[in-house]
Amino acid sequence: MVGVSPLKDYAKKRSFDKTPEPRGRVASRSQRRFVIQKHRASALHYDFRLEADGVLKSWAVPKGPSLNPADKRLAMAVEDHPVEYGGFEGVIPEGEYGGGTVMLWDTGTYEPDTEDVGKALRAGELRFTLHGKKLQGGWVLIHTDGRRWLLIKRKDPFASKTVDITVEKPRSVKSRRLLAGIARDEGGDVAKAATGDP
Ligand code: MN
Repeated sequence: MVGVSPLKDYAKKRSFDKTPEPRGRVASRSQRRFVIQKHRASALHYDFRLEADGVLKSWAVPKGPSLNPADKRLAMAVEDHPVEYGGFEGVIPEGEYGGGTVMLWDTGTYEPDTEDVGKALRAGELRFTLHGKKLQGGWVLIHTDGRRWLLIKRKDPFASKTVDITVEKPRSVKSRRLLAGIARDEGGDVAKAATGDP
């Protein structure tokens, strides 16, 4: 992989003259930010991203995170994104890759249980603590096969069997808007975006 940018796949999928998404570049210093973007594309999902090795390691979680440690949420590994992507909220034009409305659903920092995040991910299991506006406490990402991982809440005082965080906290942490509001303000498909709001 020497000489190949980890953002090659990211750039290949997008036309930066057509989408407002950032082109970005590999960052030199990691600050261990995490971000979750709620994305009403062809299907609703939550993009879970952890900063490591100068990029945002990324997974698409169809059902979103659950605070219940009994729930094992499927998380499909997707291409690395630039760190700048962590600030993006807006509308990707229909017909472009990921076309639809993107909301900054949660953001903050994370603390891995181990120093070398890249190594833990390559080994197929990363345990970490989130310090977000919505998500807190211990979590684990476990690789099952291919691109499939599981995102699971660990048992601690932030776990809950009753609170559905995606329903109770549906708004943007950046703008307080719902998906429909973002689509309305930024020229997107409001009716389609609204199907992702509770
Ligand atoms: Mn997405």
